[in-house]
Amino acid sequence: MDLYREVLSLDTGEDHDYHDEWCRLQAIASPTTSTVYEHGFVTLEKVMGDDLDIVNNARVSFNVSSQEMTEKEKGLLNFLMRDRHGSPWEAVVFRFHVRAPIFVNREWFRHRIGSFNEESLRYSLANEQYYVPKAEDVRRQTGKPGAYTFETIEDPAVVNRTLELFEHTQKDALNAYHEMLDMGVARELARDVLPVGMFSSFVWTVNLRALFNFLSLRNDTHALREIRTYAEAVEELAAKACPTAFELFNTHGRVTP
Ligand SMILES: Cc1cc2nc3c(=O)[nH]c(=O)nc-3n(C[C@H](O)[C@H](O)[C@H](O)COP(=O)(O)OP(=O)(O)OC[C@H]3O[C@@H](n4cnc5c(N)ncnc54)[C@H](O)[C@@H]3O)c2cc1C
Repeated sequence: MDLYREVLSLDTGEDHDYHDEWCRLQAIASPTTSTVYEHGFVTLEKVMGDDLDIVNNARVSFNVSSQEMTEKEKGLLNFLMRDRHGSPWEAVVFRFHVRAPIFVNREWFRHRIGSFNEESLRYSLANEQYYVPKAEDVRRQTGKPGAYTFETIEDPAVVNRTLELFEHTQKDALNAYHEMLDMGVARELARDVLPVGMFSSFVWTVNLRALFNFLSLRNDTHALREIRTYAEAVEELAAKACPTAFELFNTHGRVTP
């Protein structure tokens, strides 16, 4: 909590490194943050609505409303989920702040129902953070398209060389980036040499119905392991805001209503 107070007392200022550190500290200190991988995080910054708002979105059909969640209200939510009445679930809106590798963000941004704002390397300096998998995440791919399986590679020589290549290529790219900046090349051009393992941050505003769709696809065994790790963090944070909705999402097979 002391750390949280310290962060709140900071002024972000213009300086990029300072701002970056401010974001990192804020994320770690926030009670609604999950750290993901070494340099990433998911923060649930704001929530509008809860289980009762979904109920009352539906009840407006009859021009009535409920004041509290009882078994009757839960029964209504169960009906809405089971019979896939979709729009009442849009009553709840989340705003997340995420820092993830660019290859994860690229998959995330395919989810068009929602709103994104991402940091720009035309205006700010790239941070020095890049993704290196843990040894157990170095995997092989077998099978056919649509039915791939991924198994951890046990051979330490392959694992070590893979981790070494991750480190070397990202460091080399960062060195090239800084060399160009030092020569006066524009940030918007120098950034082009940076690899997709670099971390980048964005703000995501999304309603619960679209979030269920994201989770059904990305917090799933078929999803890329790294985006799934982020989706798990998102789900854990969001479920606290409307627990009945998430309970029913799971009961009914994680199908988007
Ligand atoms: C395992 C996996 C593998 C993938 N592989 C690839 C790949 O190889 N290449 C690739 O390009 N993408 C790939 N994708 C991305 C995928 O095709 C979707 O673009 C992405 O998952 C977003 O899903 P969505 O359209 O349901 O979400 P959103 O864009 O958030 O849309 C939510 C819902 O709104 C409706 N909707 C939104 N836009 C439209 C529209 N224009 N017309 C009609 N209805 C709409 C649909 O009902 C949709 O389900 C993959 C996704 C997964 C999970």
